[in-house]
Amino acid sequence: MSERFIFTRYHTRCYRCGEVADQIIKAVSAQAQVICSACGATRIFIPRFENTGISGISTPIGRYDLWSIEADGYCKHCAVTGPHDLAIGSGHFTTRCRNCGYTHFYRFNLEYIAQCPIDDEGEVSAPPSP
Ligand SMILES: [Zn+2]
Ligand SMILES: [Zn+2]
Repeated sequence: MSERFIFTRYHTRCYRCGEVADQIIKAVSAQAQVICSACGATRIFIPRFENTGISGISTPIGRYDLWSIEADGYCKHCAVTGPHDLAIGSGHFTTRCRNCGYTHFYRFNLEYIAQCPIDDEGEVSAPPSP
Protein backbone atom coordinates (compact mmCIF):
# COMPACT_ATOMS: atom_id res chain seq x y z
CA MET A 1 0.00 0.00 0.00
CA SER A 2 2.05 2.92 -1.20
CA GLU A 3 -0.87 5.26 -1.66
CA ARG A 4 -1.42 7.38 1.39
CA PHE A 5 -4.99 8.04 2.32
CA ILE A 6 -6.19 7.32 5.84
CA PHE A 7 -4.05 6.08 8.70
CA THR A 8 -5.37 6.45 12.21
CA ARG A 9 -6.21 4.51 15.32
CA TYR A 10 -9.23 4.21 17.53
CA HIS A 11 -9.06 3.18 21.15
CA THR A 12 -11.89 0.83 21.95
CA ARG A 13 -12.75 -2.66 23.10
CA CYS A 14 -11.76 -5.29 20.57
CA TYR A 15 -14.69 -7.35 19.37
CA ARG A 16 -12.48 -10.45 19.35
CA CYS A 17 -10.09 -10.43 22.30
CA GLY A 18 -12.12 -8.09 24.50
CA GLU A 19 -9.11 -5.94 25.33
CA VAL A 20 -9.42 -2.18 25.27
CA ALA A 21 -6.69 -1.51 22.76
CA ASP A 22 -5.86 0.64 19.79
CA GLN A 23 -7.55 -0.53 16.64
CA ILE A 24 -5.33 0.51 13.76
CA ILE A 25 -7.29 1.83 10.83
CA LYS A 26 -5.85 2.09 7.34
CA ALA A 27 -7.56 2.88 4.10
CA VAL A 28 -6.47 3.35 0.51
CA SER A 29 -8.60 3.32 -2.61
CA ALA A 30 -8.24 -0.41 -3.07
CA GLN A 31 -8.74 -1.62 0.48
CA ALA A 32 -9.43 -0.69 4.08
CA GLN A 33 -8.20 -2.54 7.15
CA VAL A 34 -8.91 -2.50 10.87
CA ILE A 35 -6.26 -4.25 12.96
CA CYS A 36 -6.39 -4.90 16.69
CA SER A 37 -3.06 -3.96 18.24
CA ALA A 38 -3.63 -6.42 21.09
CA CYS A 39 -4.53 -9.67 19.31
CA GLY A 40 -3.77 -8.90 15.67
CA ALA A 41 -7.29 -9.62 14.46
CA THR A 42 -7.61 -7.97 11.08
CA ARG A 43 -10.72 -7.06 9.21
CA ILE A 44 -10.41 -6.37 5.52
CA PHE A 45 -12.88 -4.20 3.66
CA ILE A 46 -13.00 -3.91 -0.12
CA PRO A 47 -14.40 -1.05 -2.17
CA ARG A 48 -18.01 -1.11 -3.10
CA PHE A 49 -18.34 2.23 -4.79
CA GLU A 50 -17.24 5.81 -4.63
CA ASN A 51 -19.49 8.76 -4.97
CA THR A 52 -19.57 12.50 -4.75
CA GLY A 53 -23.08 13.60 -3.99
CA ILE A 54 -24.37 11.14 -1.45
CA SER A 55 -27.18 12.32 0.74
CA GLY A 56 -28.71 10.26 3.47
CA ILE A 57 -26.22 7.43 3.91
CA SER A 58 -28.06 4.50 5.38
CA THR A 59 -26.18 2.90 8.20
CA PRO A 60 -26.84 -0.80 8.62
CA ILE A 61 -27.15 -1.95 12.20
CA GLY A 62 -24.45 -4.49 12.81
CA ARG A 63 -23.30 -6.76 15.55
CA TYR A 64 -20.68 -4.29 16.66
CA ASP A 65 -20.72 -0.68 17.60
CA LEU A 66 -20.54 1.86 14.90
CA TRP A 67 -17.37 3.87 15.22
CA SER A 68 -17.47 7.50 14.17
CA ILE A 69 -13.94 8.76 13.75
CA GLU A 70 -12.35 11.85 12.32
CA ALA A 71 -9.05 11.37 10.55
CA ASP A 72 -6.90 13.42 8.25
CA GLY A 73 -6.50 12.04 4.78
CA TYR A 74 -5.59 13.04 1.28
CA CYS A 75 -8.65 13.33 -0.94
CA LYS A 76 -7.90 12.28 -4.49
CA HIS A 77 -11.02 14.06 -5.66
CA CYS A 78 -10.33 17.60 -4.46
CA ALA A 79 -6.59 17.07 -3.82
CA VAL A 80 -6.85 18.49 -0.33
CA THR A 81 -5.41 16.87 2.76
CA GLY A 82 -7.87 17.44 5.53
CA PRO A 83 -10.42 15.93 7.85
CA HIS A 84 -12.42 12.94 6.73
CA ASP A 85 -15.35 11.43 8.57
CA LEU A 86 -14.99 7.69 9.01
CA ALA A 87 -17.87 5.41 9.87
CA ILE A 88 -16.91 1.84 10.61
CA GLY A 89 -19.35 -0.91 11.46
CA SER A 90 -19.34 -4.67 11.29
CA GLY A 91 -20.15 -4.84 7.63
CA HIS A 92 -19.10 -1.56 6.15
CA PHE A 93 -16.46 1.13 6.23
CA THR A 94 -17.00 4.58 4.78
CA THR A 95 -14.81 7.62 4.49
CA ARG A 96 -16.10 11.03 3.54
CA CYS A 97 -14.04 14.07 2.65
CA ARG A 98 -15.28 17.01 4.65
CA ASN A 99 -14.04 19.44 2.04
CA CYS A 100 -15.81 18.14 -1.05
CA GLY A 101 -18.03 15.34 0.22
CA TYR A 102 -16.32 12.62 -1.81
CA THR A 103 -17.18 9.30 -0.23
CA HIS A 104 -15.59 5.87 -0.37
CA PHE A 105 -17.76 2.92 0.54
CA TYR A 106 -16.16 -0.37 1.46
CA ARG A 107 -17.85 -3.57 2.49
CA PHE A 108 -16.57 -6.24 4.81
CA ASN A 109 -14.69 -8.90 2.90
CA LEU A 110 -12.80 -11.17 5.27
CA GLU A 111 -11.20 -11.47 8.66
CA TYR A 112 -8.02 -13.14 9.70
CA ILE A 113 -5.81 -13.38 12.71
CA ALA A 114 -2.33 -12.27 11.86
CA GLN A 115 0.53 -14.55 12.75
CA CYS A 116 2.42 -11.57 14.03
CA PRO A 117 1.11 -8.10 14.49
CA ILE A 118 1.82 -5.50 11.85
CA ASP A 119 4.49 -3.32 13.34
CA ASP A 120 4.42 0.02 11.61
CA GLU A 121 5.81 2.17 14.33
CA GLY A 122 7.51 -0.29 16.61
CA GLU A 123 4.99 0.23 19.35
CA VAL A 124 2.53 -2.56 18.76
CA SER A 125 2.85 -5.01 21.59
CA ALA A 126 3.14 -8.72 21.03
CA PRO A 127 -0.01 -10.77 21.35
CA PRO A 128 -0.50 -12.70 24.58
CA SER A 129 0.54 -16.33 24.44
CA PRO A 130 -2.33 -18.74 24.10
ZN1 LIG B 1 -8.14 -7.87 19.79
ZN1 LIG C 1 -12.29 16.01 -1.17
